[in-house]
Amino acid sequence: MIKKAFLGLATPQINYETLPAHLPETEKLPAPKTITLYHPKDDAYNVASTLAIGDSVNTGQKLALYADEKNYVISPISGRIASLSPYTGDFAKGYVAITIARDDTETFDETFQQKNQTPSLELLCDYLAGAPGNPPLDVLANSNGNIKTIIIRGLDPDPTVDTSQYIAQTRMKDLKKGIQILKEVTDVQDVVLFTAGETVQGYGHIGARVAGVKTQYPAALPPMVMKEVLGQVLPAGKTCEDLGVCFFSAEAVISIGSAFESGKIPTSKTLTFIKKDGTYRIIETCTGTPIRNILEAYDEAVNEFDRIILGGPMTGSAVYALDHPVRPDTDAVIVVDRDKAAYASDYPCINCGECVRICPALIQVNMLVRFLEANQYEEAADNYDLYSCIECGLCSYVCVSKIPIFQYIKLAKYELERAKMSEAANA
Ligand code: SF4
Ligand code: SF4
Repeated sequence: MIKKAFLGLATPQINYETLPAHLPETEKLPAPKTITLYHPKDDAYNVASTLAIGDSVNTGQKLALYADEKNYVISPISGRIASLSPYTGDFAKGYVAITIARDDTETFDETFQQKNQTPSLELLCDYLAGAPGNPPLDVLANSNGNIKTIIIRGLDPDPTVDTSQYIAQTRMKDLKKGIQILKEVTDVQDVVLFTAGETVQGYGHIGARVAGVKTQYPAALPPMVMKEVLGQVLPAGKTCEDLGVCFFSAEAVISIGSAFESGKIPTSKTLTFIKKDGTYRIIETCTGTPIRNILEAYDEAVNEFDRIILGGPMTGSAVYALDHPVRPDTDAVIVVDRDKAAYASDYPCINCGECVRICPALIQVNMLVRFLEANQYEEAADNYDLYSCIECGLCSYVCVSKIPIFQYIKLAKYELERAKMSEAANA
């Protein structure tokens, strides 16, 4: 257990922590009695689902709502489906929440083991897209060979979150195997592992180039890594994939490596758990574990208005229900005391310029925010560089009026994307 003090940061200079060379084992939580998995659902979800309450499931089994469905989730436990219910996530994204009640006896699904002798991208997409770390296999599969570089995050994008760095340092065998498999099933030969500048030693045999980035936030965000490691500037409105680059977390790669080493689809999620007092642990729990179970395991009482953040303190999002599950991409669970939580306000902008001075994308944030507050998203995009924003959250962090600028930016991009898709569908 280590003490952190990210909540007491007084200056806008926020640094990534570098972990020592020798690290303790993760703290492993037992599988809970029930777990919940969020299966993405199209609007068309109806009673014709192939899944039903009472169905028996095995550990590592793929669960898809329909026989020909490309989306699926992986059951981390053996048991029976206890409920299927609609769930609405961030930005109104629809899911079906599949709750599974655990049996006392564990039975592993052997379908993957029977097929894993010959790795292929198709096999990876079929079985490992929902594995811990959320490997972005669909990006590789849909790129038509345009992805030429894979960048592996050995440093988490947010400060105080140590999951990727921990995994990169402690799971080198699986990391090496995962890199080898990725090279084998794609045409990508340029694989780069990046980590905090001073910790690049010790990865010589990994099968990838190793690069260090600065230890000051937001150096580990993809656009910054593109610039520092590849020397490429991400043009406004373009994605890393548009430039032929795909980012994997270290955990996504070790999920692939360990699946082919062991023949079993991994179901255990590693994450950084930070308590209200700033102490933190690297823990392992199965995907689908309700946040409540983690809090109970560490005697962390949550009071009204305390905040629970999934992901990092800069770019993560708050959840409002303790039964919210750990998902394959949940790299951190942070509990913030209500007295220390940064609440948004409806104070007006006082034009102090703090947001402009800190913005790494050199955006006139004080002007941008005026258009975002007025829901004038197209003007914000056309005239005030909305699409140059790298979503670091620093403007919200320093804003003296506590304007939720970062949230406005994400909402604006989402609304513009939705409008674009609706236009395309009606064309
Ligand atoms: S989140 Fe704010 S500070 Fe960060 S790049 Fe976007 S506008 Fe600039
Ligand atoms: S930091 Fe906040 S108050 Fe200051 S100029 Fe930016 S938006 Fe306005």
